[in-house]
Amino acid sequence: MSRVNEMFGSMVFNDATMREKLPKETYKALKKTIQNGKGLDPAIASSVASAMKDWALERGATHYTHWFQPMTGVTAEKHDGFIAPTDDGGAIMEFSGKELIKGEPDASSFPSGGLRATFEARGYTAWDPTSYAFIKDGTLCIPTAFCSYGGEALDKKTPLLRSIEAINKQAMRVVKLFGNEDVKNVVTTVGAEQEYFLVDRKYFDQRNDLIYCGRTLFGAMPPKGQELDDHYFGSIKTRVKAYMRDLDDELWKLGILAKTEHNEAAPAQHELAPIYTSTNIATDHNQLTMEIMKRVAERHGMVCLLHEKPFEGINGSGKHNNWSISTDTGVNLLEPGKLPHENAQFITFLCAVIKAVDDYQDMLRISTVGAGNDHRLGANEAPPAIISMFLGDELTEILEAIEGGVDYEGADKRELEIGVHVLPHFPQDTTDRNRTSPFAFTGNKFEFRMVGSSMSISGPNIVLNTAIAESLKQFADELEGAENFTAALNKLIKRTIKEHKRIIFNGNGYDDAWVKEAEKRGLLNLRTTPDALPEFIKAKNIKLFTEHKVFTEAEMHSRYEIHLENYCKVMGIEANTMVSMAKKYIFPAVTAYIKDLSNTVNELKAAVPNAPCKAEGELILKLSELLNAMYEDNKRLEELSTEATKLSGLQERADYYRDNVIPYMAKVRASADELELITAKKYWPMPTYGDLIYKV
Ligand code: ADP
Ligand code: MG
Repeated sequence: MSRVNEMFGSMVFNDATMREKLPKETYKALKKTIQNGKGLDPAIASSVASAMKDWALERGATHYTHWFQPMTGVTAEKHDGFIAPTDDGGAIMEFSGKELIKGEPDASSFPSGGLRATFEARGYTAWDPTSYAFIKDGTLCIPTAFCSYGGEALDKKTPLLRSIEAINKQAMRVVKLFGNEDVKNVVTTVGAEQEYFLVDRKYFDQRNDLIYCGRTLFGAMPPKGQELDDHYFGSIKTRVKAYMRDLDDELWKLGILAKTEHNEAAPAQHELAPIYTSTNIATDHNQLTMEIMKRVAERHGMVCLLHEKPFEGINGSGKHNNWSISTDTGVNLLEPGKLPHENAQFITFLCAVIKAVDDYQDMLRISTVGAGNDHRLGANEAPPAIISMFLGDELTEILEAIEGGVDYEGADKRELEIGVHVLPHFPQDTTDRNRTSPFAFTGNKFEFRMVGSSMSISGPNIVLNTAIAESLKQFADELEGAENFTAALNKLIKRTIKEHKRIIFNGNGYDDAWVKEAEKRGLLNLRTTPDALPEFIKAKNIKLFTEHKVFTEAEMHSRYEIHLENYCKVMGIEANTMVSMAKKYIFPAVTAYIKDLSNTVNELKAAVPNAPCKAEGELILKLSELLNAMYEDNKRLEELSTEATKLSGLQERADYYRDNVIPYMAKVRASADELELITAKKYWPMPTYGDLIYKV
């Protein structure tokens, strides 16, 4: 066996391990639960728990934990030992079915967005058998959903599982209409490409902005290429390569098929692409990937930055959520087929996506909100905050032809068949040309590029699954009762294209002209988090999620609040960090430089009375002017930041940060960055952009 084969999935209680370790009947029953989402027999849980424990102990595990994804954005664990005392004063290793199925962590320290006011403070975690248990750091981790005692979701997994169920239900109706009797399940698949930066730990530790905010609040751009000498370049390669190799090993052990590459636009920026899998597992894997990326970086004396915009003026980091939908018989429903009926099915699913993206632009945008991503979306190198879809010229032309075609008239079936028959089989490389689109068709899947690098992909996939489930539901409602299926389908497709084609845009999404054009088309442009969030609780969105049983209305309100609160917290931390760095580091550094320059002038004048001292004088004046401006703006920023905390309404507070605090942060930064450029290096109190991005 190769090294990779031996290692891959070695720390995962996966299908192969289950088959080997579980009694036959138990394995069969569990498999059924996994495939059909049927409830689990408690007796089976005991049998699974016991096998899981033995397997984990063999691999050196001593503890187990219910691993879950609360609304904080990171994963949570509460570790318990397997060890239990015996009557005779000894100890045995125990793990019961009950402990596998249900846990009761203290929920009070996790955000609930007001749900706790109405429900009990405690929450419980429930085993999700559709995502494999794994061992991390000597602990058996059991993927779980996290709910309040009233059954309200307090996490990111529960609604994701519900959305997977919703789209399965509706897609099955449509798939059946196309005569696929052998299909039992439709699943969505995801591959999340992850961008990140690596910086040297010793520089990171000297910057409070990186420590507290994960991004730089100050920093002038290095003159291009200045620090890019061969010495640094040589060491970048070996160090980063060693990191990537180590990272791949760790991820492979956890069954995550990652391929790390050294290929991003900015220096020190990299990307990791996993092989796609089911949405639930892909989401768990992405959370694990982010955690392991950070941990492995530490071992290599580096810090992995997952923030969407660690450096101003330098490419930000996103997460490309590649999404598709396929049958359990292995048919990718977004892959153009060769036969006419396959193409009709492809066009139907394509239209369901087009309709969903147009109808729920607001929700897709909201699924990517966050203070960090606000710096990225709409900026130069990132997709704009406007949702649009790239289909490529060929596919767009086909849709136009279908839309413009004569209505199907009963007897002659040729119309639809010809319209759809001409579909070419898309070579991958001709479909992925446009990198500026937030939502691009790439041959057999869609790539949603607006997602921020630090976010869970749960949110975007909940929206995609649910919105597309709604399109499919409407399609099925209309088609199921049709007398002539082909005629009804033709009509439906034409109408859908006509009504929703405004969302299709194949041009340059970074162009200013697009912003105007999008406005003309009536597309939403929700630029910031506080702009976008109110849409979350609009009636049409509440209707969507409650009808498909993905969120209750109370859950939606709670999530709206959690998002707002999170935004306000981040803004508060950033403003305060900036104020303090300006006061404690930049101000003293610049005054020390001014003092030394002034002393130099005095000493020089004493020694050489008619020395001009023009350069020193001008420099001192400029430094002093900038320092004054920075001082005044910083004082104002501090006041504004305090004002913000006095506002009790969360939306009001978020708006206040956007309108008042952020502009002052920009002012303070502008003066400080200018000061950095004219202050001698040895006085500057923190590592520069040059240090951070070139000296890895
Ligand atoms: P690249 O973008 O580098 O050319 P691909 O387009 O093949 O590579 O894949 C990009 C990402 O999309 C990978 O993470 C891959 O696993 C994922 N992907 C490929 N096919 C699917 C699919 N059917 N569903 C979801 N994700 C997919
Ligand atoms: Mg790609």
